[in-house]
Amino acid sequence: MNIQDSLEKIRPALQMRVSNSLARGVGVRENFQEQLGRFLDLLAQAVLSGDATWLDPILQEWSNARTQTDLQEGERNLSGLLYKVITYSFEIARETLDAGDALELMAGLMPVYLRAVEKAAALENESQVQYISNELQSAQIRLKKLDKSKSNFIAVAGHELKTPLTLIEGYAAMIGDLATRENEQVHMLVQGTHNGIRRMREIVDDMIDVSQIDNHLLALNFQPVWLNRVFNMLEADFKSILEQRKHKLVVKSFSGSNELLFADPERLYQALKNLVSNAIKYTPDGGRITIDGRTLSGFVEITISDTGIGIAAENQETIFEKFGQLGDVSLHSSGKTKFKGGGPGLGLAITRGIIQAHDGSVWVESEGYDEIKCPGSTFHVLLPLRTQPSDPNMARLFGASENSAAQLPDDFQEPKP
Ligand code: ADP
Repeated sequence: MNIQDSLEKIRPALQMRVSNSLARGVGVRENFQEQLGRFLDLLAQAVLSGDATWLDPILQEWSNARTQTDLQEGERNLSGLLYKVITYSFEIARETLDAGDALELMAGLMPVYLRAVEKAAALENESQVQYISNELQSAQIRLKKLDKSKSNFIAVAGHELKTPLTLIEGYAAMIGDLATRENEQVHMLVQGTHNGIRRMREIVDDMIDVSQIDNHLLALNFQPVWLNRVFNMLEADFKSILEQRKHKLVVKSFSGSNELLFADPERLYQALKNLVSNAIKYTPDGGRITIDGRTLSGFVEITISDTGIGIAAENQETIFEKFGQLGDVSLHSSGKTKFKGGGPGLGLAITRGIIQAHDGSVWVESEGYDEIKCPGSTFHVLLPLRTQPSDPNMARLFGASENSAAQLPDDFQEPKP
């Protein structure tokens, strides 16, 4: 018997067995029988012509018919169906044909089936990849929307809190004025209120800064800066906290720290202050914080190292995201300088925003997180070594007079030797 006749002979039993095993319910089974009939017609054509691509259109159709649930669950029902057709064809061939015809039929069907299985797997992979990339895209859109509303919330909350805070600040100052020096207790209470207000103002300012950074609205005021002057200010500002925590702050002099460069002095100070304040917070009492640096071609690199608890490799990027605090938020203990006293988690996001607005970059290196061994962390700040102001008016000023430092804000004047 030739292959076509053998195939015709096994066809009714094959169609029945496959549809019984796969389709449940009479209506579904009828529809499936019809589809299977088309498949077997095309299979006969493929075997007759020796061209397995005859099956491609129906495989494509079946692949397109995969439901959302199939895709979600990664179901391979097309391959599953083909495996059933193959297994039953060989089973029925063995049952109904004599050995020679069965063998000949199997040999004829084998290359067509192999090609069909390959094609089905490729189609299923393709639609799965398409499904996953669509899902990823919509997840990205959702994330963007979420981040936007988070950003909007910070901006609105920051601005809304600012007004009542200014009122409280004003009234507290008036109460302070009214409280006579002799009344120690009232004085102490007013002082406490002032401290609370100051801390709250810092948080509100951070919220406003971070929303400006998010919306690319951070405006820099480029002026001449000497880094060692900025470092001296940090030393002075943290003096009493460093004493309280028994930390030693070492500021090294390096090439570049004495050179004039153009940056926004206040913003740069704010960025470095966040890093030093973190170094203090995340180092157990009696630690060492070192400010050092070097010049590279066209850049100056500042490093702030500590002997603290360190940062695990997997968190070394997330800490720069807003609210990128590590650890359990329910155990959050607030504090500006006490050991592990977490803030709102905005400091490093602001530092990165400020440094990036200067066309620089900031990153951290640490051997890992260990509160016992304290491997420490080193934050690197890379700033372009701008020796000319970007503002043409200021450039003229600097070109005209060597001694123009006399025009600078007092805090950032060139340090006297
Ligand atoms: P926070 O207000 O929580 O200090 P930051 O944005 O300044 O927020 O820092 C984010 C997180 O990065 C911190 O909660 C802390 O877990 C980690 N971190 C920052 N600096 C250091 C450091 N020097 N050593 C160890 N961990 C640090």
